[in-house]
Amino acid sequence: RGKTSHTALLAQALSVPAAAGLRDISQQVRPGDSIILDGETGEVQLLPDEAETLQATQRRKAWIVREEQDIAQARDLPAVTRDGVEIAIRANIEFANEVKAAARFGAQGVGLYRSEFLFLSHAPKLPSEDEHYRTYVEIARRVAPHPAVFRTLDLGGEKSFHEVLERTESNPALGQRAGRLCLRRPDIFRPQLRGLLRAATHENLRVMLPLVTTRDEILEVRRILAMEAEKLKAEGREARADVPLGIMIEVPAAAAAADVLCRESDFVSIGTNDLIQCALAVDRGNESVNYLYQPTHPGVLRMLRFIVQSAERAGIPVALCGEMAADVGVTALLVGLG
Ligand code: PEP
Ligand code: MG
Repeated sequence: RGKTSHTALLAQALSVPAAAGLRDISQQVRPGDSIILDGETGEVQLLPDEAETLQATQRRKAWIVREEQDIAQARDLPAVTRDGVEIAIRANIEFANEVKAAARFGAQGVGLYRSEFLFLSHAPKLPSEDEHYRTYVEIARRVAPHPAVFRTLDLGGEKSFHEVLERTESNPALGQRAGRLCLRRPDIFRPQLRGLLRAATHENLRVMLPLVTTRDEILEVRRILAMEAEKLKAEGREARADVPLGIMIEVPAAAAAADVLCRESDFVSIGTNDLIQCALAVDRGNESVNYLYQPTHPGVLRMLRFIVQSAERAGIPVALCGEMAADVGVTALLVGLG
């Protein structure tokens, strides 16, 4: 499986070294066997026989730990280019308790909270409005004064681990997933939006919609947010009706129409994991076509450039999420693209 598969993202969130695509290795390993697992190269050695190999691995491990400590020392340095452009570096998180690690590594907020795992931890039930509210408040409070961006439920496609999903779709990656599912299922969406509206009295909270395909979807979510904010007010609850609403651009047609979509959004974030998958027609979790998963494909770079230009013209902030943002090999390229 690729390094942008959700198995890999979860392993990262939990700081568990992981390698994937190992086929039948679990049948070859016996209890007590030694294994060398290199999460950086994705290599696994079962029963390394030479003491030398083990020693070299221990040394490499110690070096990696030291390097991490060195990097952490630089965490408070400003991320500014030589010509004075400042770039905010934020964390992608899956669990509320990752906020601490994000701060330890110098993140200036949370650029993406994946709410799928909140749903997963309540399955087969759905989280209640209050559970949504409490989770978001806790994160927003811990992240303040930096921004905390909460993505509404993004189930489906390869994130197919909840019973609320339709199991009979012939092509779930192109099916009723993410916001499409939420707009069909008010029992799922409204408690989440109401929890977000209430938590948004914390000024740093922002709401983000995944896999936006059309302008109508944004307008529909704005309509629901306004309606729920009214209802909350009538119930005597505090809520912030004008919570900033952003979109994720992950669908190639949305990238090509970024100028239209940016006009309806308060901010935009480029979901490169899915955008690359959809643009190159390469399943991000399929190791046999992994070689084609190319973030620097000219077609992808042209889309990134157009999205950035569109956001600039609309006068809204643009962020990049997805693993491409964490690949230091392309950092200079991304900075150059704006
Ligand atoms: C993305 O697609 O780039 C993204 C950040 O969302 P996810 O990995 O959760 O699909
Ligand atoms: Mg995505």
